[in-house]
Amino acid sequence: MLVVMKNDATEEQVQAVILEIQRMGYRGVPMPGAQRTAICIIGNKGPVEAAGLLAIPGVKEAIPVTKPYKLVSRETHPESTSFKIGSVTIGAGEPVIMAGPCAVESEDQALTIARFVREHGASVFRGGAFKPRTSPYSFQGLGEAGLKILEKVRRETSLPIITEAIDSESLALVEKYADIIQIGARNMQNYSLLRLAGQTRKPVLLKRGFAATIDEWLMAAEYIMSEGNHRVILCERGIRTFADNTRNTLDLSAIPSIKSASHLPVIVDPSHAAGLRDYVIPLSRGAIAVGADGLLVEVHHDPAHALSDGVQSLYLHQFDELMREIERLKGFL
Ligand code: PEP
Ligand code: MN
Repeated sequence: MLVVMKNDATEEQVQAVILEIQRMGYRGVPMPGAQRTAICIIGNKGPVEAAGLLAIPGVKEAIPVTKPYKLVSRETHPESTSFKIGSVTIGAGEPVIMAGPCAVESEDQALTIARFVREHGASVFRGGAFKPRTSPYSFQGLGEAGLKILEKVRRETSLPIITEAIDSESLALVEKYADIIQIGARNMQNYSLLRLAGQTRKPVLLKRGFAATIDEWLMAAEYIMSEGNHRVILCERGIRTFADNTRNTLDLSAIPSIKSASHLPVIVDPSHAAGLRDYVIPLSRGAIAVGADGLLVEVHHDPAHALSDGVQSLYLHQFDELMREIERLKGFL
């Protein structure tokens, strides 16, 4: 249930509602909006009795929430969520481009790519230090040494850093070094990791699982938000289908679906969806055209020698081309 306060409700009245919700055995989470504050009731197993709440001064109405997810839902927060990442704002209309290699391999590699993508319009640098690889024999990432390289990249380029946490140990380190914590497709339903990410105070980018429905994905985001972290970005990165022409099948319909069901920003990772660099630019165009709030793209200065995902990494000149195409597209949006 959502308790909607009157426009002129005071902070004391909001607190009185939260106290009453606690007295009833639930939790009340305030959702401040541009027009009014609403308080979302969580922790109830069945319907909530509204009469006692409606009697509190400042309360306008109590609306039942029809979806299983609450804090992520547009029902509870009608305005789209936007927040700052470094000098840019995600979710405010301008696509935010996060770019870099799949994995941090060396200081030289990371800095070469970071300088180029920054010069050509990227706002966030990506690079994995902990890599969840399909084979245990593949390069697993540099670990904390990779995070230290990312720290240096931020210092030298001023680009905020996004990097993946794969378990509770790496999460503690990633939280220390990164500006955005990435939770990968394989961990989308790792509920203990989601809860821990929700307890951090860094924005979390939550990728869609290979076989997750939109509702399962939103419930995963709800885990993060229910721990108090409201800065969540969703990332569509392709799902498993019968199609074998690409690594995964990019579900562009997820963007408008999320936009109608949730207030959270949603971006697209065309690299892991395509698995082939030459499809990355066309898929990116599609993503921007359907309203994605940004892109997460793999770029490498020497993809033939990349330690992971070289085949889908854009050459530097292709990243330049991608950014030009996005600029052109903006004129039509
Ligand atoms: C990645 O971004 O490097 C990655 C491992 O992606 P995903 O979790 O989407 O496979
Ligand atoms: Mn990758």
